[in-house]
Amino acid sequence: MSLTPVRANELPAMLTVDEALSQILADLTALAGESTELSESLGRVLAEDLVSDIDSPPHDKAMVDGYAVRVADLDQDQVELQVNEEITAGQVPSLEVTAGTASRVMTGAPVPEGTEAVVMVEQTELTEKDSGQTVRMPRQQLSVGINIMQRGTSMRRGDQVLAAGTTVRPIEIGLLAEIGRENVLCIPFPRVAVLSTGNELVAAGDLPGPGQIRNSNGPMLAAQVHRCQAEAIQLGIVRDDPQELGQLINTGLDADILVLSGGVSAGVLDLVPAALAAEGVDEVFHKVELKPGKPLWYGRSHRHGRQVHVFGLPGNPVSSLVCFELFVRPLMDSLAGRARIGMRCRQALLQSNFKQRGDRPTFHPAYYEDSESRVTVEPVRWQGSADQRALTRANCLAYFSAGQQEFPSGSAVPIYLFDA
Ligand code: AMP
Ligand code: MG
Repeated sequence: MSLTPVRANELPAMLTVDEALSQILADLTALAGESTELSESLGRVLAEDLVSDIDSPPHDKAMVDGYAVRVADLDQDQVELQVNEEITAGQVPSLEVTAGTASRVMTGAPVPEGTEAVVMVEQTELTEKDSGQTVRMPRQQLSVGINIMQRGTSMRRGDQVLAAGTTVRPIEIGLLAEIGRENVLCIPFPRVAVLSTGNELVAAGDLPGPGQIRNSNGPMLAAQVHRCQAEAIQLGIVRDDPQELGQLINTGLDADILVLSGGVSAGVLDLVPAALAAEGVDEVFHKVELKPGKPLWYGRSHRHGRQVHVFGLPGNPVSSLVCFELFVRPLMDSLAGRARIGMRCRQALLQSNFKQRGDRPTFHPAYYEDSESRVTVEPVRWQGSADQRALTRANCLAYFSAGQQEFPSGSAVPIYLFDA
């Protein structure tokens, strides 16, 4: 995912979005594959090549309900054939189809020896006689093989049918079941711990007292983790207190990724970077040239031979949300072995003039519409990074570079799509 063009006059002190993302993704390998029950494999990436243990279909099989015949018998003035037997799916034929005879077969059933084609039951008429059943059908010139799927047409025993790196969808689950796999080696989703910091925070179920606000980041970030199909480990709220912070950070470092919100700006109680350092997390960068989300902090730690990625997201909800999408999500996708990472990006035409006020590249909440001929986008009214309500009117982020102040209606801008 290339997010932003790097500008020539960038200040060297602060990383661009692309530079920050490159540092997060540097030297990254996907998590090790683990045996996964088929029912748990949806959305995961295969960590092994898969070989079929069977021919499919396992026998020459009827593709329709009808009569297994020899084609020469159909090219007669009067076609009336003696019925040998009836074979439903799951049964095995006992009689050969010979000249002048037919066997009634159901879809999926093995066709008998001697069968050259299957005539659809809709074209036939069955008659009971003392001598047994006969079936009449119109004269026709049939090619050999009509309505028969030959053994091994779809795959042969020993064929590689899926490759490592494939994302498992329902269809792959079906195929895996067909080749007898109840367990399959898959790359797991990363485990992500979420911790909200701030003395002012109360849980969503509580009424905020004077000076307090509800913790909206915790549930929001956990939901973003779920969107990436991973399980969130919710560590709740922690006070701006070095000891309490240290304890919960320590718990969070058991995950693959620890996401904190709040406490990374320049306030007197922004204690997160120091608390992380005290727990042995090495800072990779602090601050990115971007709006919203400039105070973003990222570092790495090692636990039991594993690498743990740690994000300190700025506390304002829109900053938290945007930083998660731009930085945490691509990391999660990469660790999960996905080839396509991060938000989907498109170009869209601005519906009206837009004035870029900030001196930083901005990911502005916006609403895009995708008509047959073109994609258009309209930034939503937005009061800044604390205004999470504005985001409910947005379905994407529109990217405005810092250098240019006026973006006239009709200009093409990159947009980053929220999932539906
Ligand atoms: P901070 O980054 O800790 O300075 O927080 C920046 C702003 O975001 C402050 O107004 C906080 O009250 C607010 N904030 C911090 N954490 C949360 C949270 N979990 N939910 C909602 N708002 C938050
Ligand atoms: Mg705070």
